[in-house]
Amino acid sequence: MSDKLRQVQRLIRPEILDMKAYHVPDSVGLMKLDAMENPYTWPAEMKKDWLKLMADLEPNRYPDPGAKELIKEMRSCFGIDPSLGVVLGNGSDELIQLLLMALQSSSSVMAPTPSFVMYQHIAKTLGLDFYGVPLQVDFSLDTKAMLALVEKQQPSIVFLAYPNNPTANLFNRGDIIKIINASDGLVVIDEAYQPFADDSFLDDVMKYPNVVLIRTVSKLGLAGIRLGYLVAHKALAEQFEKIRLPYNINSFTQLTAHFAFSHYKILQQQAELICQQRQWLLAELSKVTLLEVFPSQANFILFRVIDGQAIEIFEALKSSGILIKNMGVVAGLPSECLRVTVGSEEQNKIFVRTLSEILVVS
Ligand code: PMP
Repeated sequence: MSDKLRQVQRLIRPEILDMKAYHVPDSVGLMKLDAMENPYTWPAEMKKDWLKLMADLEPNRYPDPGAKELIKEMRSCFGIDPSLGVVLGNGSDELIQLLLMALQSSSSVMAPTPSFVMYQHIAKTLGLDFYGVPLQVDFSLDTKAMLALVEKQQPSIVFLAYPNNPTANLFNRGDIIKIINASDGLVVIDEAYQPFADDSFLDDVMKYPNVVLIRTVSKLGLAGIRLGYLVAHKALAEQFEKIRLPYNINSFTQLTAHFAFSHYKILQQQAELICQQRQWLLAELSKVTLLEVFPSQANFILFRVIDGQAIEIFEALKSSGILIKNMGVVAGLPSECLRVTVGSEEQNKIFVRTLSEILVVS
């Protein structure tokens, strides 16, 4: 490394120099069951109509900075009360970043572990203290420990993924309300997997001024356009809106989202199909000996290899052309856990058959 390069490296904050980049595995040529994407594409006619619309788009122009039309459609599509504020993000991970960027520099962040890694990653990036509270063995919140930490540290923000990633469960609603009531800080309910779950906090935002709800359209079938939304009391949303970059939702995303939401029924039908496939996959995996399969309210399933060969099984699946996620060692999660995204009927069959064959051989 040259002297100059070494010199400029010193300008970077030490916590960032120590950090590992968020790793996205190479999936070329593999059946992708690692990232909770919707496996279904659009009907040919719908795709044609979308491309026709795209042809009129003018890439030389900036997008609508406030994405006003899109927000109007999203309010109606998702049933967001007109008195609440909405902020859009380039994916919901940008909204997590935006929320944390708005906090005082002395703030601390709390979340259960395991949960979505970006809460901790972005907190660290911004030099904020992060408190992770391990889940209980049944993946419920350790409410006692969380409430004790709320009382002692008063974290400025608590993240609760509902359903949680990677455990796929909905936390107990009563436990969440206790944390909301005890906390003087913000409580973010992250509903990334809401299209597959039986419950939501959307109707509770009005009642609890310290609650911020975030969602994404990624799991609904629009991961490629990067669009997330935040719902909060207007006075709060206005603060986050001030630091949102003016053109964070590009023209292609605005137009595609507008088109997709005018066909919302199709996205809902696909989500329904994924839920049916989830039930099939849960039932089939439960029949496979040597696996412990955990219930799911999301579009993925967490399971544990009882004999302790998660890495070998992950690698064997990969060699057979299937990419899932090996969870590794994480506080609050039993060892030897793997996570698989619910795919199409055909993909799920291939996955179960391949996994069963691998388990028989090993
Ligand atoms: N929240 C949770 C709980 C997630 O699992 C994810 C993605 N895996 C996100 C937020 C981010 O989603 P996106 O940035 O695609 O909107």
